Amino acid sequence: MKCINCKDVQLVFKSYKGITVRQCPKCESMWLTKKEFREFKDKTDEFLCWLDVELWKKNELHKIVKTDNSCPDCSALMYNVEYHDSHISLPVCFACQGVWLDKTNQEKLFDYLEQLITAETVKGFVSEIGHDMKKGAETIKEEMRDLKTILVLIEYRIFSRFPTLEKIVSGLPK
Ligand SMILES: [Zn+2]
Ligand SMILES: [Zn+2]
Repeated sequence: MKCINCKDVQLVFKSYKGITVRQCPKCESMWLTKKEFREFKDKTDEFLCWLDVELWKKNELHKIVKTDNSCPDCSALMYNVEYHDSHISLPVCFACQGVWLDKTNQEKLFDYLEQLITAETVKGFVSEIGHDMKKGAETIKEEMRDLKTILVLIEYRIFSRFPTLEKIVSGLPK
């Protein structure tokens, strides 16, 4: 499987927190599939309560646009899934159910989450977790920079919603 940015660079398997993802050794883009994420989600359910954020939450705010990029796995054309005014646009293959996560989008997602973690919101997050009231804002910020957090967000909001997103895609002009 080749990187869609670097063209001739082969993706390599990489183990990340218990799941295997494919990653481009050159640009660090990742190819994430539903199959791998099902397993990942089972291990991180506790973590999901953190992610009650707006991003990709409301079905009616999804914008889906066909791209010129072919899926690195099955060659079907990919669609950009964008949310409202987030300016984060993720290429998705609905044929084999995979998501392309490049470095720019990883950074955008980290920035997005970081913006949410202000002094006021941190209290709410901490009380939502309940069992760890001592966790300070700094620790929470650190955890938000963890790649796992954005992977959970993608699993939760994109992979879990494929049927809904597919319905939107099927309504697009061919
Ligand atoms: Zn690459
Ligand atoms: Zn595909």
